[in-house]
Amino acid sequence: MRLITHLVFGILIALVFDTMISFESLPHKLLFYSVVAFSAILPDMDYSKHRIALVHRGILHSLWSGLFLGLVAYLVNPFLVLPALLGTFMHLLLDSMTPEGVKLFYPFLRVKGKLRTGSAAEYAFLLAGVFLSVALTIYSF
Ligand SMILES: [Zn+2]
Repeated sequence: MRLITHLVFGILIALVFDTMISFESLPHKLLFYSVVAFSAILPDMDYSKHRIALVHRGILHSLWSGLFLGLVAYLVNPFLVLPALLGTFMHLLLDSMTPEGVKLFYPFLRVKGKLRTGSAAEYAFLLAGVFLSVALTIYSF
C-alpha cells in the first residue's frame, strides 16, 4: 500500500478510537493521533532504493516488530502503547490485503490478498477511507 493509504487509515482508526476515549487534554489527543500516524507508516522504513540490511516486508512487517514497538512505547510512556499498536497493526492489516502480503509471525505465516499497490482498487479503497474519516470527524462534533 502507498504511504498516503497507510496515513489515511491510521487516522481513521485513531478517529474510531477517539469516539471511545476521553482524553485528558488536547495535547494528549494530538499526541495520540501523531503516534498512530507515525506508527502507521513506520514499518515501511524498511523500503529503500538502497537496501542495506532489512528485507522489505520482512521483520518490520510482522507482529514481532509491533510488539517491540509496543514495549518501547510502554517504557517511554504507557499512554503511547495503544496508539503505537493501533498504527502498526493497521499497517499490517492493509499490507496483508496485497498480493505481496506480510509474514505476521516472521519468517512464517504469510497473509496476503488481492488488492494491488498503486492500482485503481487501492485508490478507490483510499477514497473510501477518506470519506469515512471525514464522516467520522463530522459525526464527532
Ligand atoms: Zn508496508
